[in-house]
Amino acid sequence: MKTLGLCSKDPSAVFSYGTFARDKVGVQAFFDVLRREMVKARPAQGHRIISSLDQSGHLIRHYTLNIDGLASAAGQTPLVINEEDTKERGGVIELHGNIHFVVCCVCGTRRPITTLEGLTFRQKRSVRCTQPTCEGEMRFAVVLYGDKDSGLITPDSVLDYMVQDAASAAVVVWVGISFQQSASVEYFRRVHRGSGLRRHVHVVINPEEDTLYNLRTGCHGLDLSEHDLVFAQLGAGQGLGVIQRWVRDAKAT
Ligand SMILES: [Zn+2]
Repeated sequence: MKTLGLCSKDPSAVFSYGTFARDKVGVQAFFDVLRREMVKARPAQGHRIISSLDQSGHLIRHYTLNIDGLASAAGQTPLVINEEDTKERGGVIELHGNIHFVVCCVCGTRRPITTLEGLTFRQKRSVRCTQPTCEGEMRFAVVLYGDKDSGLITPDSVLDYMVQDAASAAVVVWVGISFQQSASVEYFRRVHRGSGLRRHVHVVINPEEDTLYNLRTGCHGLDLSEHDLVFAQLGAGQGLGVIQRWVRDAKAT
């Protein structure tokens, strides 16, 4: 892969903290190109259904691994979990951050990126924090692999929060996750184990047939019966459409 001077045999290297630490301006320039592409994206059917379930009060919380900000574009409120005003239910928590935001590496100030700052990044120059008395360097608010500053973007307590939310849920829906990455398997294990005596029904929606195999392999040793796990080999919009109809029917009866 060769993009903006970043060169690697492994395309995912650009998302690693090691690459960022070695070439901050190169990685930030790459992220701004990516951001400008993502600005053109619009919420899909799946985003709209999740937002609709949220508005109707049927969603305890949406946790997303996506960094594109499309959940909030579809109408969901983005939450920062250490804020006192975190809602009792509803809203979206962006586990891996949001590419439309920057964060200061020193004071932790987080705010939307400006057009000028985007241009500065693409020119491979650094952007400084504008808080009085702080001259920290700003970076994209996106969590990288092995990120040493991930706590500035997503507090470590987010997993406890996720488990707490899941404990009051009847159904946990996993959408578009293939469970190839150890992080997503860890999320599953935490939610499954953290539910105490209550057993969840997990609905896994993914068009890739390897998904269930990946999950069962990653969760070796975890007691998952067929009653606990429903696999829908469907796209996000189609699978969530089924969930939405199921919620509607349950409400009507
Ligand atoms: Zn700062």
